[in-house]
Amino acid sequence: MLQSQLFTRTSKTAPKEEEAINAILLTRAGFVDKLMSGVYTFLPLGLRVIHRISQIIREEMNAVGGQEVSMPVLHPKKNWEQTDRWNSVDILFKFTSYYTKTDLVLGPTHEEVVTPLLKKFILSYKDLPRAVFQIQNKFRDELRAKSGLMRGREFLMKDMYSFHASEADLDEYYEKAKIAYETIFKRVGLGKQTVLTYASGGTFSKYSHEYQTIVETGEDNVFLCQKCNIAVNKEIIADQSTCPQCGNKDLKPVKAAEVGNIFKLGTKFSKPFEFQYKDQSGSLQDIWMGCYGIGISRLMGVVVEAFHDDKGMIWPESIAPYQIHLICLDDTSKTKSDILYQELQKNQIEVLYDDRMDKTPGEKLADADLIGIPYRVILSERTGDNIEIKKRSESDIKLISKKELFVQMGK
Ligand code: ATP
Ligand code: MG
Repeated sequence: MLQSQLFTRTSKTAPKEEEAINAILLTRAGFVDKLMSGVYTFLPLGLRVIHRISQIIREEMNAVGGQEVSMPVLHPKKNWEQTDRWNSVDILFKFTSYYTKTDLVLGPTHEEVVTPLLKKFILSYKDLPRAVFQIQNKFRDELRAKSGLMRGREFLMKDMYSFHASEADLDEYYEKAKIAYETIFKRVGLGKQTVLTYASGGTFSKYSHEYQTIVETGEDNVFLCQKCNIAVNKEIIADQSTCPQCGNKDLKPVKAAEVGNIFKLGTKFSKPFEFQYKDQSGSLQDIWMGCYGIGISRLMGVVVEAFHDDKGMIWPESIAPYQIHLICLDDTSKTKSDILYQELQKNQIEVLYDDRMDKTPGEKLADADLIGIPYRVILSERTGDNIEIKKRSESDIKLISKKELFVQMGK
């Protein structure tokens, strides 16, 4: 991508009315634009990050047998009445159709849609287990939408729902989902910071599990067990002083952001929709369900909170908008830089090329630090046939050959 052609622009000053670091940096770098509190446009650079995170999640959900669907965002009131959640859930965006006078809600989660949907197809034990997932915008009328992408009123979520013949089968699948989640957080670059966290359960299980990324700006308070690297959410106060996994009593309070949540729903949603299956003897049995969420746009915000410095963002390679930021500092290196840009593209190496001739070298370098692409590459008279390369996460500048650059990029 030629930076001169990007319709967005970087800004030196922080946007008004933003407090969160993620919102400030993402806006300044031209990744997102705020429409109103908790509602953002994803601009070309930001959307590339969203797509890369989504693709990692999609691959890992497919690997545990998830089948991707896209359910409607518009839900009828009756489904939410059936589960008794029309009045009890406070974050619903409700409205009435002008023509049909029916009450509707913008989906904040999809148990009310996925349960009757799967009921149409799952009839017998032979049809189980099944898991479906989607990647879609969710709508929640959140009280405090001040943390940029970390708490949106419209935000992107991956939600998966699994359906089982027995509690034991749900338990087995739940453990597979845990492993998939660990893989996802590792792949997006948050493996070290993200811990499995015991949270309050509900009707069918003692605990649910959250995935909490330890960041100072997180909204949640968790108690970290440094022995087995799991945490306990402060909300399950009853036994916050003991690690539920190893019994350690020395837990450390830390701030964290919830990037994912997995839950054994049991028969909570299958019961109100009378969703049952026929077992081998032909008698009707309850369906057991699990649900598995990841806040994709929140995760993007959390990555910025976790990886930045006073100059800007520092993207992990796996989710960066581009791998290389090629910068042409002045006229004398324009031809050389143009050629390298073509070669990188030919080799399918994702490159943002700062070919803007109306910017000073200082402005270009500052923009590269702000945008945070993993490798900055510069050609100049000084570099001769070689290439100057600098990792955004390190301060060393190295001179390498073109060939070495391609090897470094996995080519
Ligand atoms: P929270 O306690 O932070 O409000 P939640 O328990 O309501 O989260 P879930 O309903 O389990 O969240 O949703 C699944 C995931 O979606 C969460 O783990 C989180 O990463 C993300 N998420 C939830 N609410 C928001 C929001 N308002 N903005 C962005 N992401 C969100
Ligand atoms: Mg919530």
